[in-house]
Amino acid sequence: MKKRVLVSGGAGYIGSHVTVELIAAGYEVVVADNMSNCDMTCFEGVKKITGRDDIPFEKIDCCDSAAVDKLFSDYAIDAVIHFAAFKAVGESVAEPLKYYRNNLLSFLNILEAAKSHSGCNVLFSSSATVYGEAETLPVTESTPRMPATSPYGNTKQMSEDILRDVVFATAKYDGKDGQWPVKGIALRYFNPMGAHPSALIGELPRGVPNNLVPFITQTAIGKRECLSIFGNDYPTADGTCLRDYIDVVDLAKAHVAAVSRMVEGKMKEDYEIFNIGTGRPVSVYELVTAFEKVNGLKLNYKFAPRRPGDVVAIWADTSLANKELGWKAERTLEQTLASAWAWEKHLAENA
Ligand code: UDP
Repeated sequence: MKKRVLVSGGAGYIGSHVTVELIAAGYEVVVADNMSNCDMTCFEGVKKITGRDDIPFEKIDCCDSAAVDKLFSDYAIDAVIHFAAFKAVGESVAEPLKYYRNNLLSFLNILEAAKSHSGCNVLFSSSATVYGEAETLPVTESTPRMPATSPYGNTKQMSEDILRDVVFATAKYDGKDGQWPVKGIALRYFNPMGAHPSALIGELPRGVPNNLVPFITQTAIGKRECLSIFGNDYPTADGTCLRDYIDVVDLAKAHVAAVSRMVEGKMKEDYEIFNIGTGRPVSVYELVTAFEKVNGLKLNYKFAPRRPGDVVAIWADTSLANKELGWKAERTLEQTLASAWAWEKHLAENA
């Protein structure tokens, strides 16, 4: 029998790519989303790419504990991948309660439900933001986390810890009193970007994008006048920040590898953490010029002051994920930047 994966936040940017890759790998998927930060564009795209019109879609808010519990009772869930969360750093500083309430409560409800249902594995979408400004680069999974600089980052750190504690506490359960052991993996993503090669799913930021790549593609298409490169006086070769940009399809495949490790009983510890990146630092300026070159266009950009809260440089040591998950990033920077542009053009053609 096929294993079934619940993808919370599955209609969003990363969740939709993960749904595609799970189905391609032979999993059944249930998508749950409250649609608070997306429309049906990506879910419709997923159906087209997979040729599957019957993927169960549940419009629920994971902050509703009864709805989450019902979901686990209605479907036999072997693993859950939890994406359903708010993700705007600046907004989290302005509205911390909104972020703590939503991001923590939804995860607590998922964990409660997992604990009450046999054999449930939990994959949490964490972030490289937990490392802050690391003293040594690249960062490994044992690089100490730094105090979070935003409520958003804090919810990622807290959720990792909650998952670790629940895994530890439930290890002793055997189903008596309806309580079961939970196993967990946290994937720490670096900077996801790009879109599916079909250009049927991709990132759909609401309003002015905070992230670099959607800002670049929206500038190229004429939705934004000019890209500001935040800071060119950093202590790096060209003065701009260094990041590890991971293709969203590669990232999605890492989730499939992690889910397989869990459901096939191959975990070495009951709670594991993996960095998911390319292992290669790329500067903002390099990314902009690579985008221009691969897509044969000129981008309107200017250098602007540093953005508060940005770290100078961060990139991943991915050897643990390479070895243990048997996964590595495969798409080139050029392929990814071409896919991001194809997606922006697809959106413009279908507006
Ligand atoms: N960045 C930029 N202009 C923008 C958006 C981002 O220069 O309009 C820079 C930002 O300062 C950082 C990098 O691009 O150095 C990646 O930023 P993003 O917000 O995409 O991800 P972060 O690394 O902050 O999570």
